[in-house]
Amino acid sequence: MKCAPFDYVRASSVEEVVKVLAESDGDGKILAGGQSLVPVLALRMARPSVLVDVNRIPGLGAIRPSGDAVEVGALVRHSRLVEQTNHPLLAEAARWIGHTAIRARGTAGGSVAHADPSAELPVVAVGTGATATVAGPSGVRSVAAEDLFLSALVTSLDEDEMITGLRFPLPTRWGFAEFARRHGDFALVTAVVTELGGAVRITLGGVASVPQRAAHAEQVLADGGTAREAARAAADEIDPTADLHGSAPFRRAIAGEMVRRALAQAGIGQE
Ligand SMILES: Cc1cc2nc3c(=O)[nH]c(=O)nc-3n(C[C@H](O)[C@H](O)[C@H](O)COP(=O)(O)OP(=O)(O)OC[C@H]3O[C@@H](n4cnc5c(N)ncnc54)[C@H](O)[C@@H]3O)c2cc1C
Repeated sequence: MKCAPFDYVRASSVEEVVKVLAESDGDGKILAGGQSLVPVLALRMARPSVLVDVNRIPGLGAIRPSGDAVEVGALVRHSRLVEQTNHPLLAEAARWIGHTAIRARGTAGGSVAHADPSAELPVVAVGTGATATVAGPSGVRSVAAEDLFLSALVTSLDEDEMITGLRFPLPTRWGFAEFARRHGDFALVTAVVTELGGAVRITLGGVASVPQRAAHAEQVLADGGTAREAARAAADEIDPTADLHGSAPFRRAIAGEMVRRALAQAGIGQE
């Protein structure tokens, strides 16, 4: 199937993006790497009147250490995240995104804005307490990742807003584990474990419509429980739905195992 017709604007600044989006009355779309948007257009699941190409905007492709965090420009490609050494958890997570061609084009801002429940970067964003810098008609605001993801493919961004960058805090210890049917497939379950300011976070992807903290499992660890006990608690507290990739009990069992592996990698709760 071919895309429905649309106007194309190659923006040279964030201000221009916001202006074009605002003028389109909610009918415009940002084009970043195109790895999620173009299939959606080709299937005519979206018919924007205008596409605003952000790829030539200068200054959005940098990765910069900043205190106890790393700032990632919205246009940083997944392949650059894999190569960088400033944020090892981000590098490990990005390695699991799709295939080489997808990682070469897809962007950090696009992945977070697309909000796929099985995508890796949104889970890392919630797991590290990341914040997004968002530009809109009334200026720039900062949005915590936990306030960004509302539902599958739905965020709290307004239609005329653009993510310009993401700030990922650096955990003192971390673990990442993912289960997918084949290499490059979207994850069935992703588990991210982080230690930030002495507190351990366990965040799961693929088990709900948005990245989900396993609060009970976190409490088990805070009370001195083992990784095995926390993994069991995480599996018990989630409520995954069945789909063609697996039943709910299967996904639950995988989630427990991914949490156990991520905790082992982080060296947390070991017997
Ligand atoms: C075969 C295949 C396999 C894939 N496997 C995985 C996988 O395993 N894991 C994974 O995480 N992803 C996977 N992806 C998706 C890939 O990571 C995409 O790159 C990513 O989801 C979207 O990034 P993008 O830059 O391509 O955004 P685009 O496709 O250009 O845009 C996606 C959406 O985000 C909006 N948008 C883009 N940038 C911004 C911004 N800065 N501010 C606000 N809105 C913005 C667009 O308007 C659009 O609605 C896969 C894709 C394909 C085609």
